[in-house]
Amino acid sequence: MTNTLTRAARETIKASGLTIRAFILENQGDENWHGDDCGCTDDRCIGFHHEEHEECGCLPVLIEETKKQMSRRALLENADVALEAMSLEELAHLRAAIEGQISDSVQWMRKYGFWTWESIAQRLGVTKQAAQQRYGRVR
Ligand SMILES: [Zn+2]
Ligand SMILES: [Zn+2]
Repeated sequence: MTNTLTRAARETIKASGLTIRAFILENQGDENWHGDDCGCTDDRCIGFHHEEHEECGCLPVLIEETKKQMSRRALLENADVALEAMSLEELAHLRAAIEGQISDSVQWMRKYGFWTWESIAQRLGVTKQAAQQRYGRVR
């Protein structure tokens, strides 16, 4: 494992509860750090995103994103086991949270024109009409 992360960067990462190894693996896909010494994945962060004597604003954002990605993967990997252990109330709560998030994601993708209704329907495993009836009409 090679990394050139500054002491400050390593301390910020550790203080967040992540290990240096997990942070690097999650952001680079291998054990070597190719980003800038300050902890930004952009190898030209120092001197461009901020000056050398300034704190890196990218690192805290990246740490938050890294945590989100890690919990997302943990949830996906353990979904079956976790769901089996849940009460009806918890399942209902989760279903509402998932429905809300699907709706938000669809609105967002439609608003910025990233996906067509065909593409959304395909991803959700429903017909185009079903997707439009359920998630359309909100402007
Ligand atoms: Zn940066
Ligand atoms: Zn930086």
